[in-house]
Amino acid sequence: MVTLILSGKGETMAEIKKYDVIIVGAGPAGMTAATYASRAELKTVMVDQGIYGGQMNNTAEIENYPGYNQIMGPDLSEKMYASSTQFGAEYSFGSVSGIDILDNQEKVVHTDMGDLQAPVVIIATGSEHTHLGVPGEEDYQGKGVSYCAVCDAAFFKGESVSVVGGGDSAVEEAIYLANIVKDVTVFVRGDQLRAQPILQQRAMKKENLRFVYNTSVTAIQGDGEEVQSVELVNNKTDERSTFETAGVFIYIGLKPNTTALESLGITDQQGWVQANEKMETKVPGIFAAGDVLAKELRQITTAVGDGGLAGQAAYNYIAANRSEA
Ligand code: NAP
Repeated sequence: MVTLILSGKGETMAEIKKYDVIIVGAGPAGMTAATYASRAELKTVMVDQGIYGGQMNNTAEIENYPGYNQIMGPDLSEKMYASSTQFGAEYSFGSVSGIDILDNQEKVVHTDMGDLQAPVVIIATGSEHTHLGVPGEEDYQGKGVSYCAVCDAAFFKGESVSVVGGGDSAVEEAIYLANIVKDVTVFVRGDQLRAQPILQQRAMKKENLRFVYNTSVTAIQGDGEEVQSVELVNNKTDERSTFETAGVFIYIGLKPNTTALESLGITDQQGWVQANEKMETKVPGIFAAGDVLAKELRQITTAVGDGGLAGQAAYNYIAANRSEA
């Protein structure tokens, strides 16, 4: 349903599309919530500022999602999208700038493509890769600095590239890069990796992949057109050096996509959304799911679990409010 709002002079000011459930974010959590909500016959829309799939689109091979021994991230995105829309859930492009709560507890989600209204909103905006914050990083984005090996590895065939970080993402993507580029050097700021042992063992078997410990990248340099080197500091000896490299892939952790939610007061000090085991935030009718949550394990499996719970919670909330009305 589309509601036309009239100004005092009788002019049309805006259109608000009405739904039962608005899901902000179409990653694995959002898509699963959409499957559950629409299968419960709720009029459901997923809003995302990019293509559905979220971080899965930046992931080369996934081998810890049940049912698939190995699947490419973008392929799993397509399969989840097909599931999420099979019961009529809509998918809509739009960047969300804020959410208002009306006196009757309806929520208005403001997007650059127009406003949407529903009694229930599910926040599934996920997280994004943290930036290093060193000179040259922003200047050379898309010119050698990347946060997505699966997107950009092919540009570096036959070249030497660097990876920054020591967690699952850094090691997993370094292995992927090593299959495509000439060689990979991973700069780890501490004296050990944080990645799962299975990934570490796999990485150690790659002859063209090496780890340099106790080393931070302090600047990224180039000729203005493309990256040529990184500046390094040894965190133990303070020794500084320059390392020639054609690409820098940065995997140093995640930060939540919650800037548009600040006024709701549902995030912790780091910006992660706080919700209980029913995926309820402290605002009635606003639920959350997936990587955006303050939680221990950020995986596709945990995101889809959260999404199922949130979709079901949306149904319960609407059913309870209908029976009260
Ligand atoms: P992460 O686990 O938070 O690891 C971040 C890494 O970056 C750490 O090694 C950290 O070093 C390093 N780091 C942080 N800030 C840095 C800086 N300024 N300069 C240099 N290094 C810095 O992040 P992630 O690897 O992106 O993983 C995020 C989540 O996704 C995790 O829960 C992970 O398990 C999950 N994940 C799972 C899989 C899988 O299961 N296959 C794959 C990818 C991601 P310190 O150790 O010194 O702090």
